[in-house]
Amino acid sequence: MGNFDLLKVKGVSRRDFMKLIAATTAALGLPELIIPQAANAVEQALNKPPVIWLEGMDCTGCTESALATLNPSPAELILDMLSIRYHETVMAGSGHTAEEAYQTALKENFVLIVEGSSPGTAKDDRFCMVGGRPFRKILIEAAQKAQVIIAIGSCASEGAGIPGACDTGAVGVAELLKAEGINKTVINLPCCPVKPATLIGTILYYLTYQKAPALDSQNRPVAFYGSLLHDNCPRRGHFENGEFLTDWNDPIQKEYCLILKGCKGPKTYTDCAQVWWNDNANFCINAGSPCSGCSEKDFYDGFSPLYSKQEMFKLPGIGHVNADTVGTVIGGAAAVGLGVHLIAAAASGRLSKKDHKEDM
Ligand code: SF4
Repeated sequence: MGNFDLLKVKGVSRRDFMKLIAATTAALGLPELIIPQAANAVEQALNKPPVIWLEGMDCTGCTESALATLNPSPAELILDMLSIRYHETVMAGSGHTAEEAYQTALKENFVLIVEGSSPGTAKDDRFCMVGGRPFRKILIEAAQKAQVIIAIGSCASEGAGIPGACDTGAVGVAELLKAEGINKTVINLPCCPVKPATLIGTILYYLTYQKAPALDSQNRPVAFYGSLLHDNCPRRGHFENGEFLTDWNDPIQKEYCLILKGCKGPKTYTDCAQVWWNDNANFCINAGSPCSGCSEKDFYDGFSPLYSKQEMFKLPGIGHVNADTVGTVIGGAAAVGLGVHLIAAAASGRLSKKDHKEDM
């Protein structure tokens, strides 16, 4: 069966396939010229390379994220093409059959996808065992042989997710390999969970160029993690106007900026505002939840409590404040019947004296 016959069986037309390639290359900021080359690379990869998908200390959220898309989904399309040989959650085999599949794939030129963090040292090996073996050892073994290593989600990227909270000793893939003296690049795709588009785009780039895309200081592809969420947020206009949600039950504030409810958007690099989860169905801030900063290495400990703003931050037109001083500003505004956004506008000079007088 030819490559595109395989796609036809899955109900994917060549047009849909090319649209996917075009969308993904655009997301990566690649020129249109690259589309045929990228499509060709993916076609060639339809029956290869094999993928070993390891899960350590995780909640399987990244697997859920990759699979919970429409049918036939881009994730299914690409991941099926990649021939996943070993994936504890979705593979049909179990026990010795699964172990055999892993050992067979290990002898090939495979892509290693890692979900979940690892115990950092041998003394904690008992906390994560797979098939009677420490996950830490399995990960080291697979990483040494992999042609490329992709760490997906916050846990695998930085050991930064929930299993790593409160100093459990959990580490990400790169940290573990460094401690073991293994000098290999790990492409980090954080977020809790990873977005399918991020994983697909990275794999597509790798298949096309046989190298990692441009990475930032945390080894995240710049194409997906190059801009602040705050700069692209649909609520940014309210931020600029000094309109901040303070009461979850007030329908007037429903769309207001969430910074007083703990939003970490101003210090979180991610494309969440542009590329949403579940086939672009939604993302945290659009659903009314403040950004928790899950694409940053300080997540979770460094960004909690998630729903209250503790540290100093800067409001437009007002300057540096914290939750307490903002409360004072709001109280003062209420006392004179002036909206906080008007105080912000007045303080920043955006409101003319005439406008100010009329509003008063
Ligand atoms: Fe959006 Fe959060 Fe920035 Fe407000 S603080 S504009 S909700 S990213």
